Amino acid sequence: MAEEPGGPRFVIVGAGMAGILSAIKLQEAGLDDFVIYEKADRLGGTWRENTYPGVACDVPSHLYSYSFAPNPGWSHVFSPGGEILRYFEDVAARFGVDRRIRYGTEICGMEFRDGRWHVETSTGEHDAADYVIAATGVLHHPAYPDIEGLDDFAGALFHSARWDHDVDLAGKRVGIIGTGSTAVQIVCSIVEEVAELALFQRTAQWVLPVPNPEIPPDVQDQYRADPVLMASVRDDLSRTFSDNFANAVVDAESEQVKQIQAMCLANLEGNVTDPDLREKLRPDYRAACKRLVVAPDFYQKVQHPSARVVTDHIVRVEPGGVRTDDGVLHELDVLVLATGFRVDRFMRPIDVRGRDGTSLEDVWAQRPSAYLAISIPEFPNLFMLNGPNGPVGNFSLIEVAELQFAYIMKLVDAARRAGARSVSATHAAAERFEAERTEAAARTVWVTGCRSWYLDDRGVPAAWPWTFDRFREVMAAPRLEDFELSGS
Ligand code: NAP
Repeated sequence: MAEEPGGPRFVIVGAGMAGILSAIKLQEAGLDDFVIYEKADRLGGTWRENTYPGVACDVPSHLYSYSFAPNPGWSHVFSPGGEILRYFEDVAARFGVDRRIRYGTEICGMEFRDGRWHVETSTGEHDAADYVIAATGVLHHPAYPDIEGLDDFAGALFHSARWDHDVDLAGKRVGIIGTGSTAVQIVCSIVEEVAELALFQRTAQWVLPVPNPEIPPDVQDQYRADPVLMASVRDDLSRTFSDNFANAVVDAESEQVKQIQAMCLANLEGNVTDPDLREKLRPDYRAACKRLVVAPDFYQKVQHPSARVVTDHIVRVEPGGVRTDDGVLHELDVLVLATGFRVDRFMRPIDVRGRDGTSLEDVWAQRPSAYLAISIPEFPNLFMLNGPNGPVGNFSLIEVAELQFAYIMKLVDAARRAGARSVSATHAAAERFEAERTEAAARTVWVTGCRSWYLDDRGVPAAWPWTFDRFREVMAAPRLEDFELSGS
């Protein structure tokens, strides 16, 4: 089947950071036949969904921005979530891609048939496209803990990514289950407002104390006046993150990982005065094994008189609160589940059918995988941004998505030049990548003895296990021999 006149049509799934990016880049490339389907009524992805108190990005804002749309006006080094959401809305409007979003339209199925993707929406519409970009995010599907009695709780109960803003926390007894980045931000934000705060900790966290100063108006003005300075700030941050974090965690024995551990330890020893509490908060695994928590004042906040850290195991939730295995009922008015996300879902529950009806659910029955996190054999012309086993961690997923999208564009261009209508990774390339990745993962800090969302069902990190520099190199140009091109 020939491409439609006017060039190929693209369907973008999701109007979060990566979907907006895709639309802007397609438009820039003159590939103007595209639509973004968004199930919600607002763009912004994770920044639309996470509205909990204290939500912020712990990647510096000048790095957590599109390279082509710097924002001289960021208020803080790590700006709050609402400001980030406004940034994406502003960029989408400025580049004119907001009007290309079909809100309230969830894609429920898509099938590759007769050389094109046939897409079905929840509203009963059909669309057909040459290419699909799945920009559906990673930390998207809330994980609800398997704790007895959750439904019996008489107070307000919600997941951190489904915050109930009708519940006034002032003067309430609030419980938080979880001690990840989310829980830490919530604790720091609400501890002074609530009557009591019980933090239910299953595993202690290493906490890197990085200050979050305001960016003064005169500095913002300097950035506004000097785009070259603005770009160099971003480049410097990118280099610093690559060298000190992304490149380091893939080598558990690296000096940088040892330095991170030393800084976290000094934070714990120097800032938690009560020896019992200090021991409760002391992790028994290496720093950066779990995703590092970045917070300037978590230890100060958790020592507030209204806060207590509960390390006794949760037995069940009862109408009046949380019962722990020491027999104590922690009486609560509000219970927050800061229990993270189901990170193996990706574009599911969309029913995705590739060549000859191959079901993605079947292909991913064991666990999700994709060649270079981007392309799946037998699923031609379907590309993922921030797909399975890509770089995740304490660095900018915007930078990752930009590199991936540029790669996809080069691949599409190369396929079209070769007269091919469809392109997908070969089985051999996908298997080789998976084998090399699994082997390299054994040297990372993520397998040094902790439980985390980085690990798959086998305990293998579901993440890019090499340096970020290697990721940049690999993304620079597709190896066409790793792809199957077909259909002239
Ligand atoms: P998370 O890191 O997966 O943490 C989930 C927490 O819930 C863990 O402490 C976990 O304990 C606990 N938990 C889960 N099930 C439990 C159960 N049944 N009983 C008791 N405790 C249970 O989730 P998150 O904090 O939402 O963060 C997810 C990711 O989002 C982060 O790692 C980060 O990548 C991103 N994030 C980023 C920022 C930012 O500033 N950029 C902010 C928030 C989130 P265990 O540790 O024992 O498993």
